[in-house]
Amino acid sequence: AGELPRPPATRVITIANQKGGVGKTTTTVNMAAGLALHGLGVLVIDLDPQGNASTALGIDHRAPDIASVYELLLGEVSLADTIQQSPNNDHLFCVPATLDLAGAEIELVSLVARENRLRNALDEQTLRNLGIDYVLIDCPPSLGLLTVNAMVAAKEVMIPIQCEYYALEGVGQLLRNIELVQAHLNPALHVSTVVLTMYDGRTKLADQVAEEVRRHFGEKVLSTIIPRSVKVSEAPGFGMTIIEYDPGSRGAMSYLDASRELALRGVAR
Ligand code: ADP
Ligand code: MG
Repeated sequence: AGELPRPPATRVITIANQKGGVGKTTTTVNMAAGLALHGLGVLVIDLDPQGNASTALGIDHRAPDIASVYELLLGEVSLADTIQQSPNNDHLFCVPATLDLAGAEIELVSLVARENRLRNALDEQTLRNLGIDYVLIDCPPSLGLLTVNAMVAAKEVMIPIQCEYYALEGVGQLLRNIELVQAHLNPALHVSTVVLTMYDGRTKLADQVAEEVRRHFGEKVLSTIIPRSVKVSEAPGFGMTIIEYDPGSRGAMSYLDASRELALRGVAR
């Protein structure tokens, strides 16, 4: 893998779509691994109580007494305390999620600055010490307080869209939420990137969806489309991303291409 340009400042990107199963987590961890393989420093923040991103990065989020994003949001621990290095890549780091996080959505409500907890926790010195160029935040399938925290902490939103029936269903609501956060909490927030996922070239439908999404989002859509592939779904079971699990596979190549596109598009969007 060739080198990719380091962004002038750390890019913080929230991967959001309140629909479950559209490829948020898969896209987060594989883009992260793709960027890290190119030598960029990447921190994945797992904001889903299921902890699937943590698992795919080879991090045991069920270990007793680990400091997770839950304690980070409550202000009980520092960012540095929660960051773990992925065993698969020296440049890849993760703040894991535990099942405790399921309660956070409610517990956060009564805290001060409840929408700003994650942003305030993202200590710049810690990110600099670890050489983090990208922070990718994997959101849960809802538009609740956890996702709002992710949107306040980021400048960019990346939306994965599955090439399936009703692909754009709910996207209008997502965009309205992004506008609300932008208007009231984080003026810099914008949709920078849309990724088409689970594309099945044998179906006409997949092409129709891809076309419709491109009409809707134009240049924001990466030209790389992620194909549906069983190997992509197998990799997390081995504590790996597809890029480590089967580097030569179509899935790995497509996520490598997508991460390269993301990096080369840079901060202009
Ligand atoms: P989300 O985080 O949006 O809920 P996931 O990334 O967990 O979505 O993906 C949902 C399911 O689809 C998972 O079982 C995952 O392994 C599978 N999956 C995701 N991307 C692909 C792909 N390109 N090919 C095959 N299966 C995929
Ligand atoms: Mg997920």
